[in-house]
Amino acid sequence: MCRFGFAIFAGIAYKWPMAIAFEHAVQDIIKAGNRLDRLQLAPATSGNYSIRLNDQEMAITVSGAHKGQLDGDQVMLADLSGRPLEDKKPSAETLLHCLIYELYPHVNAILHTHSVASTVLTRSLHDGDVIALSDYEMLKAYPGVNTHDVCVDLPVFENTQDIAEMSARAKPVLSGQKPPAFVIRCHGIYGWGVDMDEAARVIEATEMLLSCEMNIKQIQNSQNQSGGKNEPSDHLSGHAA
Ligand SMILES: [Zn+2]
Repeated sequence: MCRFGFAIFAGIAYKWPMAIAFEHAVQDIIKAGNRLDRLQLAPATSGNYSIRLNDQEMAITVSGAHKGQLDGDQVMLADLSGRPLEDKKPSAETLLHCLIYELYPHVNAILHTHSVASTVLTRSLHDGDVIALSDYEMLKAYPGVNTHDVCVDLPVFENTQDIAEMSARAKPVLSGQKPPAFVIRCHGIYGWGVDMDEAARVIEATEMLLSCEMNIKQIQNSQNQSGGKNEPSDHLSGHAA
């Protein structure tokens, strides 16, 4: 865990933005799906995406759609409590979107991805652990961060199919730490932003940083197995969470 945690959104004054039209949100969500699929961050039908439209509604991907091949009918209207406002089934993890919008009034877009790095890296972690990220230039992709010389903790939550239970468990952690993203063990990442561009930047940065952490652990493990032979260069050691 970081010795001094970094609360990304601490102190940011909130002003309600202009409402976003549903049709515009649908196009932004489809574009995000295409982009994340190209980056191999949308395998099978994994992930879910949303945009807050106003103080009562969001556009969110339906359950079971491939995010790299979305069409307009696969994004639906729901209220901010997760109730569908049309005859479609929203993502199974809609309550996590509701929680993030409730806790962070400045957030208007949320992306959730499944990836190799987030799955492998969290396999030996537990609920309540954090992944501590420091000394990475990529940390500057997070809102409010302007130097590599900072430590950002990403909370880790145990996976479950009971999303209401996970949401209740995550609520006190997210309201206290205010991280830029969180990780679900052996599952994936949630990231968010003031708009879809910022949410995509946070997700891409987090995925890259977790890949770095995973590679560092692999190097350290192979070093340990070889009894310290083949020492890596200095810049490849010492950053593991
Ligand atoms: Zn998921």
